[in-house]
Amino acid sequence: MPHSLSDDGWLIHEQGFSLEKANYYETLFTVGNGYQGTRGSFSEGHKGELSATYLGGVYDHHDSTVIDQVNVTSWLPVTVWVAGQKLDVQNCTILEHSRTLDMQTGVLHRRTLFEDRNGHITELVTARFCSFADQHLACIKVGVTAINHTAELELESALEGERYNLDALPAYKNKPQHHPEVKWQKWAKSRHLKITRNEATSERVYLESVTLDTGIVIGMAAALGSKTRPVAAEPVAQFERVGQRIKLTPQMGETYNFEKFVSIFTSRDCAADEVQPHCHAGLETAQALGFEACLKNSAEVWQQKWQSSDCVVIGDEEATKAARFNIYHMLIAANQNDPRANIGAKSMSGEGYKGHVFWDTEIFLLPFFIFTQPETARALLMYRYNTLKGAIENADSNGFKGAQYPWESADTGLETTPKWTHDGVNRIWTGEEEIHISACVAFGVISYLTAIGDWQFITESGAEILAQTSRFWVSRLEHNQSEDRYELTRVIGPDEFHEHIDNNAFTNRMAQWHLVQSAHLLEKMAQKSPEAYAQLKSKISLSDAELSEWIRVSEKIYIPYDSSQNLIEQFSGYFELEDLPITEWDENGMPLYPAGHDHFTLNNTMILKQPDVIMLLYLLTDEFSDVEKATNFEFYEQRTMHKSSLSPAIHCIMGIEVGDFSSAERYFQRSAHVDLIDNQGNTQDGMHIASAGGTWQTLVCGFGGLRVKNGQMTFKPWLPTSWKGLRFTLSWQTDTLIIELSHGSLKVELSAHASDPVTIEVQGQPVTLQPGKVSLIDLAAFSA
Ligand code: BGC
Repeated sequence: MPHSLSDDGWLIHEQGFSLEKANYYETLFTVGNGYQGTRGSFSEGHKGELSATYLGGVYDHHDSTVIDQVNVTSWLPVTVWVAGQKLDVQNCTILEHSRTLDMQTGVLHRRTLFEDRNGHITELVTARFCSFADQHLACIKVGVTAINHTAELELESALEGERYNLDALPAYKNKPQHHPEVKWQKWAKSRHLKITRNEATSERVYLESVTLDTGIVIGMAAALGSKTRPVAAEPVAQFERVGQRIKLTPQMGETYNFEKFVSIFTSRDCAADEVQPHCHAGLETAQALGFEACLKNSAEVWQQKWQSSDCVVIGDEEATKAARFNIYHMLIAANQNDPRANIGAKSMSGEGYKGHVFWDTEIFLLPFFIFTQPETARALLMYRYNTLKGAIENADSNGFKGAQYPWESADTGLETTPKWTHDGVNRIWTGEEEIHISACVAFGVISYLTAIGDWQFITESGAEILAQTSRFWVSRLEHNQSEDRYELTRVIGPDEFHEHIDNNAFTNRMAQWHLVQSAHLLEKMAQKSPEAYAQLKSKISLSDAELSEWIRVSEKIYIPYDSSQNLIEQFSGYFELEDLPITEWDENGMPLYPAGHDHFTLNNTMILKQPDVIMLLYLLTDEFSDVEKATNFEFYEQRTMHKSSLSPAIHCIMGIEVGDFSSAERYFQRSAHVDLIDNQGNTQDGMHIASAGGTWQTLVCGFGGLRVKNGQMTFKPWLPTSWKGLRFTLSWQTDTLIIELSHGSLKVELSAHASDPVTIEVQGQPVTLQPGKVSLIDLAAFSA
């Protein structure tokens, strides 16, 4: 391994090669920078690999069942042959192999010692990263050492344009376990790229393609060697692959180093005919700098990112590492510079959910970005504004007014949820019925405004989102004449085991909250920014009477509730369902389906996939009493299977809130390690990025006890006995707070640049923080 690794608290390791775990490590070891994400596949490939590079916002439909985030040209290929023998993990004996992801700098390091069939032992050492200083740049450094021979070495660096997305898997009887070398070959594939230009010279190569339906031009230029140390290479030009190949006769024991630079632009970044010049210019800049300087520049940006987002569990290095792992993946998933792209459910680390965007963004990920990278939070919300037109079309085609955000969103805001599971066996209804997404988008808008105070975002975009989505609710809500109340029938709540249900408490209550918030915010806008308000009214033909109607309707929305027990009923009729107990758990403590059941057969039982009522208690925190929170937590927690990775984090946070600390600790472990120990069994498909956001919330909102109430930060911390403390940073309005929590005290430092004092609440009591000062709060005294 190179000498420049960070402390172990920043490193994720792989020791030895396992074919079974290879796809899992490809996900874990994704490198990226928000603009691009590249899975941690080997540069030389392996049989059974699931390699991919994704570019934020680059989608295409063409021959796939639903629109895909395109698996674009691969910039990874670097292949070495020794006397004609290819060095790869299946062709050679692997004497030693290790990889390390350095999360502090975003670099993936690798060292492999190969013994080929001729007994030649050759060492390959590489480092790769996508630059945060220049988001269009990716770099690889390669060192080859002939350990016991002087056989001829050949090295090829290439751009590979023959790429496919996974589309559908046939329904095999008895669900066979396919061998890891062939399992991806069982899938039908979709083709999204047409190669339009390929050029190779001894100095550099260029490959350009266009997505078939969306017409996005994607250019990549690559070069081996830097300006200062040119490499005499043979160009290789095949139709869909361009490369540079070099040959050398090595000295035994000597290391030969190469640097590969790749510059990527698309017609989303500039005019289509400027893509190639931009790629070449980017390449030249990187070559002139050289690998080490490019790395240094990127590492400096990483340092700034970590400064505002690191979370340290004092006294538990494993927990800190897990927290950082989740934060690392969030940081590389979102692009503050692109308000037309968002974060897919598997980020840019895998193909699961086809890169589609869910409520995962606003509810699970956005809090992290609001409180640590507010510019990125804004860009993520601007994506919703930029896809509002699609949301309006969804509402219209479903016969409703206003804007209905899609349950699954891609580039336009049109609904993109598939109608069938990938094997074609089960119907998926979420696209039609999981309508709470529109309220979740509104929740994101309001949360961002409350924490950051970005009023300009509201007047320019946020208010329009709120108004159009409120209109949707008013037209979607059905008036029940006999009860004189408004209802939402045939929906799916967050718990997706129950389809076609009526009056899901979460959806109804969130819609109600949404209408009230919108009306109040627009009234405020009428006062505070009358011109912008007038413009909005004329743009979308909004009348003041509509605002009153939102309030009037909201007051009559039905929420199923059993007041005798303080229990919210998850939906109408839920309490009459079979109360099937969960009796078995797997080795990770995850519940197992009751015998004879699976995801699609639990509709008539009380068993939940993930929190629904408990989710509501968390989001609308100050609208429920302590008794309601405790009673509902106890009731629903024991009936939840956590079949969504989004589930454990919320149970951890609410467990702490209601005083069920041992459950909370268990749920923290599950959430923090979802991908590190693959406890959902599908990390190979990509990161559970919402769970990463949930894990950050367990630390800050769970153990740190942060809630925003009445526009103020409130803290009610609790720490496990095995932890010494917790340290994190929060953005608030235009200020920064550095928080250090220990068992007896809370230390809060307000940034010196803050112009005014900030008042927070700790365990129910107000504390005023002064700019540039550290406030030490004695928690024991406060709870007395
Ligand atoms: C969960 C949803 C989530 C989606 C994408 C599903 O399994 O039930 O809540 O939005 O995955 O992460």
